[in-house]
Amino acid sequence: MSRIGFIGLGIMGTPMAAHLVAAGHDVTGFDLNADARAKLTEAGGTAATDVAGAAQAAEVVITMLPNHPQVEDVVLGTVLDVVAEGTLLIDMSTIRPETSLAVAEAAKAKGVRVLDAPVSGGEAGAKQATLSIMVGGDEADFTAARPIFDALGKTVVHVGPHGAGQVVKAANQLMVGGIYALVAEAIVLLEASGVDAKAGLDVLAGGLAANRILDLKRETMIAREFQPGFRIDLHHKDMGIALAAARQVDVALPVTGLIAQLIASARAQGYGSLDHSALLKVIENFAGRA
Ligand code: NAD
Repeated sequence: MSRIGFIGLGIMGTPMAAHLVAAGHDVTGFDLNADARAKLTEAGGTAATDVAGAAQAAEVVITMLPNHPQVEDVVLGTVLDVVAEGTLLIDMSTIRPETSLAVAEAAKAKGVRVLDAPVSGGEAGAKQATLSIMVGGDEADFTAARPIFDALGKTVVHVGPHGAGQVVKAANQLMVGGIYALVAEAIVLLEASGVDAKAGLDVLAGGLAANRILDLKRETMIAREFQPGFRIDLHHKDMGIALAAARQVDVALPVTGLIAQLIASARAQGYGSLDHSALLKVIENFAGRA
């Protein structure tokens, strides 16, 4: 079992850190938010008073932070300065691939091993330890980290070198955004036609249009419950990552561009802190059904 430093105890990090404690690891965590630190203590972990306190004695440091500026701040600003040579750093945040590459480069100079390991499966996946984990980095480091990944997820795949995990995650996010938009359009069509949306989506969930978002979110979407979950603000960030990754390799992704604009509209209309299923509100506004 490992001494793990866990930095970023938000919607995802809190249940993930708790699973690692339950699996027998010695987890010391830090988050800027005091309530988040208290939850780690309740789960049997130890709360540090700063990033250095969580990282310095760790064999494995895990970060689960909002975006690349926070990863740069925490990892380049502190973690790499305080950890011992040979430490394994696993960044599970969703960030742009170039930052993962920059972190890997800086870590290599200090003898620290790095994996980018973003996740999919949402808050439910984090709570149930059923996340999909897409991992970029060296094979040997992936193998070393496997017991940790297995405590957090069900589908764990080494997808390539540093940054590859983030590219796969970008592909995931453009698909998730698109599916939300289409489920929202289906709800608007059903309701405007006077057809019971619950009955309609129940039958669709058993056919070719079946998908996880229908499974997990159709009831809350029909009930207009948009508590996050995964915030629109974070999905907006992820669509920017997907479009930038496409530009990097000179490919056009027209549907991704449209989805990015719908999510940008959700944010512009003040829905940034709602769950991404609140894309339904944008589609309703378009349809004159608000
Ligand atoms: P969140 O905002 O709930 O959690 C992020 C946490 O990081 C917060 O508690 C915040 O206080 C903390 N933090 C920020 N800066 C910090 C710093 N400098 N030092 C210490 N703590 C700091 O976000 P989340 O939903 O848990 O998402 C985390 C990451 O996982 C994001 O990159 C997101 O895109 C990704 N993700 C989220 C979901 C989801 O469903 N929520 C699913 C897959 C991936």
